[in-house]
Parts: sequence; structure tokens; C-alpha cells
Amino acid sequence: MEASLRNKRRTIVIGAGLAGLAAANSLQDAGHEVIVLEARDRIGGRIWTSTKWSDVPLDLGASWIHGIQGNPLTVLANNLKATRVATSYNRTITYSANGTQLTDAEASLLNRIREDVSIALQQAQHQEADQSVRAAVQKLATSTETAQLLNFVLSSDFEHEYGGSAVDLSAHWYDDDDTFAGDDVLFTQGFSVITDYLAQNITIKTSQVVKEIHWQDLEVSVISQDNRYITDSVVVTLPLGVLKSNAVVFVPALPTEKQNAIAKIGMGVLNKCYLRFEEAFWSADNDWIEYISPTHGEWIEWINFLRIAQKPILLGFNAAEFGREIEDYTDNQVVERAMHVLRAIFGSHIPDPLDYQITRWMHDPFARGAFSFNALGTTPALRDVLAQPLANRLFFAGEATSRAYFGTAHGAYLSGLRAAKEVGAG
Ligand SMILES: Cc1cc2nc3c(=O)[nH]c(=O)nc-3n(C[C@H](O)[C@H](O)[C@H](O)COP(=O)(O)OP(=O)(O)OC[C@H]3O[C@@H](n4cnc5c(N)ncnc54)[C@H](O)[C@@H]3O)c2cc1C
Repeated sequence: MEASLRNKRRTIVIGAGLAGLAAANSLQDAGHEVIVLEARDRIGGRIWTSTKWSDVPLDLGASWIHGIQGNPLTVLANNLKATRVATSYNRTITYSANGTQLTDAEASLLNRIREDVSIALQQAQHQEADQSVRAAVQKLATSTETAQLLNFVLSSDFEHEYGGSAVDLSAHWYDDDDTFAGDDVLFTQGFSVITDYLAQNITIKTSQVVKEIHWQDLEVSVISQDNRYITDSVVVTLPLGVLKSNAVVFVPALPTEKQNAIAKIGMGVLNKCYLRFEEAFWSADNDWIEYISPTHGEWIEWINFLRIAQKPILLGFNAAEFGREIEDYTDNQVVERAMHVLRAIFGSHIPDPLDYQITRWMHDPFARGAFSFNALGTTPALRDVLAQPLANRLFFAGEATSRAYFGTAHGAYLSGLRAAKEVGAG
């Protein structure tokens, strides 16, 4: 049918992650004809609940609603009556490099370094020239012991939070985001309950790898490996890592300022490794198990599923440089390195795991990283440039386009609603 004879505006949404599903729902509710094109054979994107272990769904992408108060995902979870469990940093146990629980003296030195890092970064934020988080705090590494503790703080409080390496995070802007108050909660049935819910009434074509977007004419054509789709407008929710890779060609090319934003905003790494044991050799008391690794960033944070899901499962996280490095390891090597740390903490007698689940988000061609961060050389305004619509035909959403909530599931969701409004919903 000719576009002029149509009474519904056609929109194609690229990507069935949270941003794309939020946009699609909103546009469809507003009377648009919407199709979502998704490269993978599953929906959800960086929301991905694994059912490999049938008795316990586990999230390989996002796990938490960070800050439940006022968070739009809380509203969706409440509508669904999805069961959730709060985790707390108050239930943390920290082990030193030699595997013993931190003594009071070591714990207070760690606290002092945390405070000094915070002061050094406040000072850096008052200086005219930006520098990396690492450069701003490096003076605190005055001995082998403080250097090790500093590395731990940089890993746990910055690299795991933002995905970028401390040498890449901007001291001025790394934390230029907003947060919701309240608990952090995990979904007992996995985060996919939210994306499945949002996908219910939407037309989604999976296994459609978009290769080209032609937006020079009045109509836009979107070309996948085996189809050409003609539409009035497109909402692009491609992850920043995919945009950086130029795997999708825009014709004409995106304006220079948008290309500049894509190049400068950082794409971070966070990987997960679930280990399942015959039985637990650790206590159910803590949510978090921390390890002051002798080597920067290696296996410093674990989540305890014995308390959360009553299962003998530990989840180890690795971010930034080490998170990237282990993507090249074989599964056996990853597990071996993880067990080396667990044996340092719990003793050489502990058994190997029965099974494991390992992510490699950087190598994933449809993510190419975990989430975006404010890199040295970025300003927060670049996210607005990334979000800016073009020619009233090309619209942009996805976590990286969210200036206030980048790197989060709620940021992705809100960006989809924003883009839908720009297209003309609501
Ligand atoms: C390990 C990890 C842990 C995280 N933990 C949390 C957390 O606890 N809490 C939190 O709030 N956030 C967390 N996040 C971040 C959160 O998952 C993301 O911010 C959010 O899911 C991104 O949604 P999106 O819609 O912007 O992108 P995506 O979910 O990546 O959606 C984009 C979609 O585009 C598709 N696509 C890519 N290329 C093409 C193509 N060529 N053609 C067609 N489709 C394509 C992808 O397959 C994908 O489905 C985590 C992320 C990771 C990776």
C-alpha cells in the first residue's frame, strides 16, 4: 500500500531488547503499525535468563532492578506480580589476598582508602582538565598493601559498576548519572519475565540481522540478510558496541557529530561465571563475597545463590581489562582460574564444580560489550547527540542514549519510551 494512502504510520524498531520493546509497545498503543527486527533467535538482548539448569533460572545479562523506588521497572514487575529478592551490601564478607577474612585493621585501612579515593575524585572534578579515574587516585598507592587495596576499590566500586577500566573512565563524568533510591532486587524467575511480558502483543521477527538502513528518501528501507523492509520511520536500538563496529551501514552515513559520539562514549565489559557445586562449602549468611586479589580485578566479587535461591551456586564477576581478557580463555581455563581463587579462600580440599555457565559479552556480535560508560574524552552531552533523531525518520534509543541512566535496564526502558514519543506516540 502507498504510504500516502495509509492511515497508520509504519515504524520498524531494530532490536528486541528493553529499549526496543518499550518503544514498540508505546508506538503500538498509539496506533502505529510496528514491527520489531531482532538479529538473534531470542528476544531480550542484554536481558537473558538462562534455563540451562531447569531448577534455577539464572540471568546472564542484567540481574538487578537497581533502586526500586520510582523505578519504572518496579511498576512492570508489580503488574506481573514477579517475585523478587533484595540483596544488600550490608551482607558482604571480604577476604584478603591470602584468603583470610579481613582483620579489623585491614578493614579500616580499606575504608580509609575508599574515603581517600572519594576525596581525590572530588578534587579531580574541580580541576579544569579531565583525567582518568586511575590517574586521579594513583597517588594513594604508597605501598604494596595500599596499591592492592586501591586496585580492589577501583575494581569493585568503579569497574564493576561502570564496565570501563579505571584508566578509561573520566574522572569528571564517570558518575554523571542519576539513581533511584531503595533496594536492589533480583527476579526469582529471571529478568526475562519483564521482556517476555513486553513482547506479548508485538510483532517481532527474530533472526533478522539488519545490515543496512537507507534513510535518504521519504521512506526508509531496512535491509536484513534476507529481506528488505520499507517503513516511515525507524527506531534504532543497536547497542553502542554494535554501532562502533560499523556492522550496520547507514546510507547516507550518520552525521559527523553522531559518529563522534559513537566513537567517544565508552563500551564497557562485565562478564559472569556461574559455578554449580554438589553442595555448598560456604555460608548462607552473605550476599556478597569479596576477594582482595593480588592481581588487579581478578575474581574480586561473587554473589551467593545459597541465600538468594537456596542453591549451591556462586556467581563470579569480572569487568574491564580482566573481564575482556578472559573472553579469550577456554571454558576450562576460566573455571580453573575461578577455582584457584575459591581454593585460596575456602581451602584446597573444595571440589570442582559440577557445571558452569560463562558469558562473553564483548565477543557477542549483537552486543559487543556489556554497557556504556563515560570515557575520558566524553562529555555527558554526547549522549544527547547519540539520542538525537535525524530527518524525522531515524530515531535512537538504547541504554547508551540515556544521559541520566546509562548502563542500566531502566535507562534502556526509558530511552525506548522517549524515542516512541519522538516518533509521535503519546
Ligand atoms: C552482564 C551484564 C549485567 C548487567 N547487569 C545489570 C543490572 O543488574 N541492572 C541493570 O539495570 N542493568 C544491567 N545491565 C545493563 C542492561 O542489561 C542493559 O543496559 C539493557 O538491557 C540494554 O537494553 P537495550 O535495549 O539498550 O540493548 P539490548 O538489550 O542490547 O538490545 C539491543 C538489541 O538489538 C539486537 N541487535 C544487535 N545488532 C542487531 C542487528 N544488526 N540487527 C537486528 N538486531 C540487532 C540485539 O540482539 C539486542 O536484542 C547489565 C548488562 C550486562 C551485559
